[in-house]
This record gives sequence, structure tokens and C-alpha cells, in this order.
Amino acid sequence: MIEFNTILCRYGEIGLKGNNRSVFEKSFTRNMKSLLRDVQDLRITRIRGRVWIKHKDESCFTKEECETVKKQMPKLFGLESYSIGIMFEPEMGKIYDIVKETSKSFISEKLENKSSVSFAIRVRRSNKAFPLTSKEAEIELAEAVSSNFTEEELTVNLDKPEVFVGCEIRNEFAFVYYDKLSGPGGLPTGSNSPVLSLISGGIDSPVAAYMTMKRGCALDFITFHSSPYTPQESIDKVVDLVEIINQYQRRGKLFLCNLAPFQKLVRDNCSERFRTILYRRAMMRISEKVALKIKRKALLTGEAIGQVASQTIDNMNVIDNSTDMLILRPLLGMDKLDIIDISYKIETFEISKLQVPDSCTVFAPASPATTSKIYRLEEEEAKIENYDTVLDEIIENIEIHKYQE
Ligand code: ATP
Ligand code: MG
Repeated sequence: MIEFNTILCRYGEIGLKGNNRSVFEKSFTRNMKSLLRDVQDLRITRIRGRVWIKHKDESCFTKEECETVKKQMPKLFGLESYSIGIMFEPEMGKIYDIVKETSKSFISEKLENKSSVSFAIRVRRSNKAFPLTSKEAEIELAEAVSSNFTEEELTVNLDKPEVFVGCEIRNEFAFVYYDKLSGPGGLPTGSNSPVLSLISGGIDSPVAAYMTMKRGCALDFITFHSSPYTPQESIDKVVDLVEIINQYQRRGKLFLCNLAPFQKLVRDNCSERFRTILYRRAMMRISEKVALKIKRKALLTGEAIGQVASQTIDNMNVIDNSTDMLILRPLLGMDKLDIIDISYKIETFEISKLQVPDSCTVFAPASPATTSKIYRLEEEEAKIENYDTVLDEIIENIEIHKYQE
């Protein structure tokens, strides 16, 4: 068994570059520390476009620790790829010995089940003072690998090798690895401004949350329920969904808002056809006020054009008109099936698909309006006495669900 002492991380895109680079790198390493909190005594080092992780005492990673790393790294936005490998001084003799020794055990294992194994070697040399060019180093290392095996046992395959030997040579270190694993890409959560996510128990809003975090925005969440017309399960479901999404960031808060007092007034005073749009405008207004209070500059929804009656262009226009705040709608142009694919991938689908009543369906009209005009909605809202006061009271009664770090 080869023992690995280092995880080398390669970043993806660096948002906005320039001054933002340090914000990016700080968020990246902070998120990494949080995701790897179950691996003890880590030291994270960052030098010129590379980040690497070691134990403080330089000891090797155990098998369990490597498993934890593989489970957690796909949640580290900003990470393009990473490798678990061996880091040591950048000296050719040492590189030769380590490649010879580790490739021997790696390839021998594969040869237990077959008569021949293909391999390829790739050297990246950023230290231009290093005595060998990348090509020359590759030739020497190919010799190191071959020296342990017969010609029949080992073949070269540069396109699709069964064993890939990677080597990076920099001023600070040499690094040998056998695998390049994918990260999720994107920008580190926290490297862009934070946003307030309107989250329901449905399939779409958790996916919208994931996509926005992937662009660097940390999230807090607000959900609307209609207690006692919706059951406690409606709230529990959203609490569970946010728990999953929160794995990608420093835990965001969840604001629990009871819309029922407003919905009753809508039921008793307004035209039935417009109920859903009236709810949605109230949700936006309440969310805007909460966002301003906690200094968030945008709202986020899981709306997609034409998916349901409230998401026609006409109705979205009317909903949009209820607030001046920027509303992010990352799913606008997506098909439901593609949204479901992501929801599987981020493991929210199983919870989202549970059938639990949603706040929007309380007193839902039999045939909701698919087109509406702003003035018509304003007429309906004028039928509710003290509209603003009603919303303010609802805001005062918001409860906050906090998640443990
Ligand atoms: P989802 O699957 O996200 O529930 P949906 O297809 O059911 O979306 P709508 O019910 O029209 O569509 O909701 C559109 C968006 O409005 C949601 O994605 C969410 O951002 C917000 N929203 C709807 N209902 C609620 C709610 N009860 N609490 C918070 N936000 C909500
Ligand atoms: Mg919904």
C-alpha cells in the first residue's frame, strides 16, 4: 500500500481576478477547513495558484482520512481538481526513487489479475531552474517505472493508460500522484455577496440555491408556511433540505415565516383567481425587508419560465414589480428534467419529492390567472386594509432556525 502525505488542490476559475483573488483564496481555504473538520491536525498551505493539505506533523493520511477527503471535496466550490499523493524535496534522484518504489507496488497490484498493464507519465515543471526539462524528466521516470517489470508486463498508452503517474516539480516541492479527481468547479462560497434564498419544499428552490452558492454567494434562507393550515411536516421538510444545502457553506440561518394571517385576508377580500400571485407578491415584499435587515443585496428563487401558472412572463412581471430588490432566478431557462438531475446529484430529490402541503396551495384557486396586470393586482391589494401593517406583523413573528456549525 502506498502512503500519501499530501492533497494537492488545483483551483478553477478565479472570479474577477485582481483584488478579488485574495478574497477568493481566503474563502476557498476557509471552506476547505470547514469541510475537512473531521480530519485532525491539518495544515493548509497556499502558494502561487496551488493549495496543499498536510498533517501538521507531516504524517501520512490513513485510508479513512482519504475516504473523508473524497467524500467532502466534491462540495468545495472553486476546486477544479485534486490529487492525493506524495510531496517531498524537488530533487531528481529522490523523485526517481519514489516513482520507482510507489509504481512498483501500484502496478504489481494490478498485475495480480492480468498479464499486462498500460501506463503513462506526465511531468509538469514550473521550476525553470530545475536541471531537467519536463520531457527529460518523463524519460527518466519511465525508466524508473519500467525497471521493475518485464517488457510484456508493461506497455505505454498515452491516451488511456490504466496507470497514470503524475509529477509536479515546483520551487517548493516535488509531488507524485496516481489519480486526478474532479472538484465541482465554480467559485468559493463566500467570495461573492451573500443572498437571501426563498426556499420551499419543492424540487426547484434547493437546486437554485446550489447553483447560486456555486457562483460564490453564501446564503441565508426564508420559507413561508401557513400554520395551522399547513402541517409541521412542511416546515420539517425545508429544515432538512437546508441542512443538506448548508453542507456547502458556513451554516446559513433559516427564517420561518407564517403567511396564514395574510392568506386569510386574501381569501376573505380578494378575487380568487389572483390568490397565488397575491401570496407571491407578499412573499417578495417580506423577503425584501428581511434581506435589508440582515444586509443581503438580492433575493433568490427557483422560478423557471412557464413551469407553473405563476411563472408565465406576465405573472413573473407582476411578481417582480412588488420589490425593487434584485431577484436571482438561476433556473429560468432550464427544463424540469435537467433540474431533477441536479437535485438527484445534490441529494435533495428524495426529500423534495415527499408530498407535503405547501403554503402556496392554501386556499388555492381552482383556476389561477395565467395572465395579470400590475394595476389589477394593486386593486386587489387595496381591498386589504392596512396591507403594510399586516406584513410588518408577520415579519415580527418570524422564527429563526439556526444550524449547528
Ligand atoms: P419549488 O419547486 O422551488 O417549490 P415551484 O415549481 O413549486 O418551485 P412555485 O411554487 O411557483 O414553483 O415557486 C417558485 C419559487 O418561489 C420557488 O422556487 C421559491 O423560490 C419561491 N417559493 C414558493 N413557495 C415558497 C414558500 N412556501 N416559501 C419560500 N419560497 C417559496
Ligand atoms: Mg413550490
